[in-house]
Amino acid sequence: MVKRSVVLYPGLGVGHLTPMVELAKAFLHHGAAVTVALVEPPTKSPDFSAAVARAAASNPSVTFHVLPPPPPAPAGPSGSGGGTSPAHHVVVMLYHLKAMVAPLRDFLRSLPAVDALVLDMFCGDALDVAAELKLPVFYFYASGAGDLAVFLNVGRTSTSTAFAELGDSLVSFPGAPPFKASDLPKEFSEGSPGAKPILGALHRLPEADGILVNTFESLEARAVRALREGLCVPDRSTPPVYCIGPLVSGSGEKEHECLRWLDKQPESSVVFLSFGSLGTFPKKQLEEIAIGLEKSGQRFLWVVRSPRDLEDMSSQPLPEPDLDALLPEGFLGRTKDTGLVLKSWAPQGDVLRHRATGAFVTHCGWNSTLEGITAGLPLLCWPLYAEQRMNKVFIVEVMKLGVEMKGYDEELVKAEEVETKVRWVMESQGGQALRDRVAEVKGRAIEAIEEEGSSHAAFVEFLKDLDTMNLP
Ligand code: UDP
Repeated sequence: MVKRSVVLYPGLGVGHLTPMVELAKAFLHHGAAVTVALVEPPTKSPDFSAAVARAAASNPSVTFHVLPPPPPAPAGPSGSGGGTSPAHHVVVMLYHLKAMVAPLRDFLRSLPAVDALVLDMFCGDALDVAAELKLPVFYFYASGAGDLAVFLNVGRTSTSTAFAELGDSLVSFPGAPPFKASDLPKEFSEGSPGAKPILGALHRLPEADGILVNTFESLEARAVRALREGLCVPDRSTPPVYCIGPLVSGSGEKEHECLRWLDKQPESSVVFLSFGSLGTFPKKQLEEIAIGLEKSGQRFLWVVRSPRDLEDMSSQPLPEPDLDALLPEGFLGRTKDTGLVLKSWAPQGDVLRHRATGAFVTHCGWNSTLEGITAGLPLLCWPLYAEQRMNKVFIVEVMKLGVEMKGYDEELVKAEEVETKVRWVMESQGGQALRDRVAEVKGRAIEAIEEEGSSHAAFVEFLKDLDTMNLP
């Protein structure tokens, strides 16, 4: 049989590349030839180049191709945000991706054979390229089925939404429990410059031949059922949804100092705090966390970044944090036997899987969520931006794999709350019950991707459907 050949198109940003590389590995596992077509950021980024170099070095069987830059934009690009004020980062991203349609088309045409094009959720403009070249086209939805159920609905029913103005009022969507309107991404709110382009991107999701989702059926049965029954797309048919996860990456930095530190700690004794690739806190919040951790008396490993305005999601690298200036006086000295503070970044995958790690304080990004669950760790949920508040609702209320940090939606999570929740998860029977539950779900996650598991079967079904589409 001729090898299937697929092109994966992760769009912009390291956060979108990482899960797509995991998908590339899944395709390789199923015997396909994989090319990842990469978009360089509009402004040169050392992070992007480093991430591509790392991905290429650790996946020699995957072809990574950086597309040439788009033709220069005509003066005064209306879609880029224009004007004198800096454009919203999502607007800039979507404008850039629109401009990449021509280089993508040329690249796809240059390949001898392509059996499928797989898109990141923000790459809807590439649907037109696939139609033109008569290629089967799929989305890889790198967040959960619950988010997908809600976003499909919002994308079809809203042009610009007033959800944010509804504040604490409950909103209901098929596939999800009722949740506060303010738990929707704030980019949806009326007046946000990102609202129109993001909703436009969501609107196009059902146009694909199918949607691959990084989840497993038993984790999100309710949302998956609603998707399958077509309840989430009110005005047209829903394409097939294939739950093929959890696809999670390991960081592979086996020699990091924090792993050697963890080696010296007792089993399941360390609380790990990490807030995604962009999460930061003001000094006042860092101080409250520090006081709470110290008072809890529990061991901790904490990734601290320099403060940044959370409105500024430009992914610009931050300077190394000055821990002495940011944390309470004497904190590092007093906690040196029980805690370790890391500047800016941790090899999260390896930390979570280390036997000494016992709980995970997370911002509820989907990758972190899956990494925590597959490591069998109870989650203390502290959502910050994007779809993370919704993920918190799913984790706490649907999956029941975590509890929330009270105050995440107010100005400050207080030191007492940090202390209370950390103690609860590490010392109480409730915390132990939560840990047992996550251990059980971890087992189901492993089963899902094994031969005969639901995610493995979904991938095989997807490939079968793809072959049918490619029949002459
Ligand atoms: N990550 C990491 N070290 C850090 C912070 C994050 O390795 O100090 C990784 C983490 O393991 C995950 C990704 O970055 O794979 C973050 O993705 P997620 O979807 O959780 O959040 P986002 O950064 O997109 O908000």
